Amino acid sequence: MKRKTFLKSSLLAATSAGALLSSCNADGNATQSTNAPNINTSKKYNWKMVTTWPPNFPVLGEAANLLAEWVKTMSNGRLNIKVYGGGELVPPLEAFGTVSDGTAEMGSGAAYYWVGKSPAAQFFAAVPFGMNAQQLTSWMLAGGGYDLWKEVYAKFNVVPFLGGNTGVQMGGWFNREINSVADLKGLKMRIPGIAGKVLEKAGGAAVLLPGGEIYTSLERGVIDACEWIGPYHDYKMGFHKIAKYYYTPGWHEPGTQLEFFANKAAYDALPKDLQEIVYTASLRCQAWMLAEFDMQNSLYLDKLEQEGKVQFKQFPKAVLNQLRTYTDEALQELVGADPLAKKVYDSFSNYVKRVSKWTNLTEKAFYNDLQV
Ligand code: CA
Repeated sequence: MKRKTFLKSSLLAATSAGALLSSCNADGNATQSTNAPNINTSKKYNWKMVTTWPPNFPVLGEAANLLAEWVKTMSNGRLNIKVYGGGELVPPLEAFGTVSDGTAEMGSGAAYYWVGKSPAAQFFAAVPFGMNAQQLTSWMLAGGGYDLWKEVYAKFNVVPFLGGNTGVQMGGWFNREINSVADLKGLKMRIPGIAGKVLEKAGGAAVLLPGGEIYTSLERGVIDACEWIGPYHDYKMGFHKIAKYYYTPGWHEPGTQLEFFANKAAYDALPKDLQEIVYTASLRCQAWMLAEFDMQNSLYLDKLEQEGKVQFKQFPKAVLNQLRTYTDEALQELVGADPLAKKVYDSFSNYVKRVSKWTNLTEKAFYNDLQV
C-alpha cells in the first residue's frame, strides 16, 4: 500500500510539476515575445583580426583561421572575421595596440608579448616553473584567472579570450652541453619573457628575435642557442640542421597560453548571441590547439629520432633548481613595482600550490608509475 501511495503522490507531484512547467513555458514564451533583447538577425558584422603569426602559420595561424570559420558557421554568416597574418595589415607586435585603438576589432597572440604595456600580462601566457596547460586552464576557467585577465586588459579597452595552449615546450637547441649553470655563462640565447631575465641572472644574454630571424641568427653565430616550441614547429624551422643538442624540459614555458582579444567597444556592440559565439569558439580553439600540438609533436619527435642527427638531452636537476631560484627573484622584481601584477601573481601562485597538491597525487602519479 505504501508503494501505491508513493506512486500516487509521485504521479500527482509529476502532474503538478508538469502543469507548472507548462505554465512556465507559456509565461516564458510570452516574456520572450515582449522583453527579449531585440536581435536583428539580418545585421552583419565584418571584423578584422590582426595576428602576431606569419599568415597561415602552422597551428597558431591555423587557429586564427579556424576561429573565424567556426564563428561564421555558428553565426550563420552574421559575424565575418577576416584574418590578417603578422605584417599584412600591421607588424606582428603592433597587434595589441591596433585592437586597443579599434583599428582592428580582434587580434591573436600571446599575453607575454604585452608585458611592456602591463607586467601582469605575463601570467596569462607562461611563467617559468608555473602551471601546465591543464592547470593553467583550470586557473583561468575555475580559479578566477580569466576574470583577472579581463581586469588587466580592461584599461586598454581590450577583452581577452583563451586561444589555445602549446603544452609543455622543449627546453631549446644548443651547440654546447649544459652540465652546470656555469655553461649558461656568456650564452646568447633567443628566449622570451621572464625566462630571458632568468638567463641573465645565470650570466647569459637573452636575445629577442621574431620567429623569422632565429634560424639565420643561430646559423651565423649571432646567437648560440634558441628555443621555439616543440618538435613539430622546431623541425619546420630547421633548427635540427644547425644545432646538436635538443634539451628538455621547457622549464621556461610549461604550458604557454595563446590568446584572442577583441576591442571592447566592438565586442560590446555585438548582440548577446554573437558574443557567446565568439567566446564559445575560443574555448573550442583552446581544446583543439593542445590536441593538435600533442599529436604533431609526437609525430615529429619520432621523425627527429629516426633521422638520428640530434642528441636529446635533459637539463641536470641542479641547473633546474638554480633556474627556479632565479625565477622566483625575477618574479618578485616583476610584481614589486606593480600592484595589479602583484594581485595576479598572488592568485596565480596560490593556485599553483592548491592545484599541484591535487595533481601530484593523481596526474603525476599516473605519468610516473602507470603509463608506459
Ligand atoms: Ca617558446
